Amino acid sequence: MNTEGFLAARMARLKSSAIRELLKQSKMEGVISLAGGIPSSALFDFDGLREATQLAITEYPEHAFQYGLTEGSHTLRERIAELCEGRGVVASADDIVVTAGSQQALDLVMRAVVDPGDIFVVERPTYLAALQTLELAEAQILSVGSDSDGMIVDELAELLKTRKIKGVYVVPTFGNPSGVTLSRARREQLVQLAVKHEFLILEDDPYGELRFTDERQPTLFELSQSLFGNTENIIYTSTFSKILAPGLRLGWVIMPQWLLHNVAIIKQAADLHASALSQSVAECYLGLNRMTAQVEKIRATYKKKCAVLAQLLESELGDVLTFEYPKGGMFLWVRFREPRNCTEWMKKALEQGVVFVPGEYFFAENPDHSTFRLSFATATEEQMQEAVARLKRAL
Ligand code: PMP
Repeated sequence: MNTEGFLAARMARLKSSAIRELLKQSKMEGVISLAGGIPSSALFDFDGLREATQLAITEYPEHAFQYGLTEGSHTLRERIAELCEGRGVVASADDIVVTAGSQQALDLVMRAVVDPGDIFVVERPTYLAALQTLELAEAQILSVGSDSDGMIVDELAELLKTRKIKGVYVVPTFGNPSGVTLSRARREQLVQLAVKHEFLILEDDPYGELRFTDERQPTLFELSQSLFGNTENIIYTSTFSKILAPGLRLGWVIMPQWLLHNVAIIKQAADLHASALSQSVAECYLGLNRMTAQVEKIRATYKKKCAVLAQLLESELGDVLTFEYPKGGMFLWVRFREPRNCTEWMKKALEQGVVFVPGEYFFAENPDHSTFRLSFATATEEQMQEAVARLKRAL
């Protein structure tokens, strides 16, 4: 049979995730991976997760194994609202939809707001799988640069002089892949522009809790609330993946009511609701009051690992590479001082037994081939030492 033409036209626009391919290679015997944005399972609170799972299946089996509300368990949403309040994101359970990871939140929101051809603006570089959700929704993706203060909002202001945009997707704190944090001044500028030009801000905040210093920037949600007294155009999403366990596939999205109802309808079509068992486990886990200590542990460990990798890179490869110290998160964004194609170089690195993600995949347009992303979350300190030695050999 001639199967040509069966696939929808939009599939041709979808970039397959290069990272998934790389991850396959990183599973090869002896290869050290600094590629995936995978939380360290050595840090998972297995005792707490076991206790929470036990509670969920013995105390609340009807809840854990039965169909539930599309928006998510009400108790869990109340607990998420408490968690968010600590981040300056004040919302009620009724403003929240629990999703299958924040990845699903991105997909549902894009599908709810983007008509084919609508302009969405992203940072350059940005999170690869957010680009995929925009491509699936058939958005026109435009990008603005970013520097050590995050997205260059002046570039967005310039763009707004000639274009009407539907929204901006941004990871303002400890970005993936850049590791950078949007400065306070640019945060204010961004939320002000959004009100003036009437566009949406999709604030993706999976890493905000993983800070290495006491410095905390307000979320765009919080800023908008304090400057304008409302968040009608702000959508805030976060996840349990980086602070508890990504395998639960649980995230959430906080939205204005005009959007929430519509997102819930799409979620019904997609999967009815997030796994009731996962929701029960998360709910019970939050009730154990272990989260604060768990987040502290992750912060301290990643901070140390980040410093180890950064020092190794500086001392061994500082003459050829440059990078900024992130103040949190999981990633180092590295640039060659002289132009080099990192996708090509990657093949040499793989021959030496080390993988990373070439930077070009994180660009919606104008890729910077001289960049690459290293994750410091998963590898041990010994592995990092060996990985950097291998990177050096690959040069
Ligand atoms: N947003 C960003 C910026 C991410 O880095 C990730 C995970 N790598 C996600 C969203 C999705 O995470 P999850 O679906 O596990 O919540």
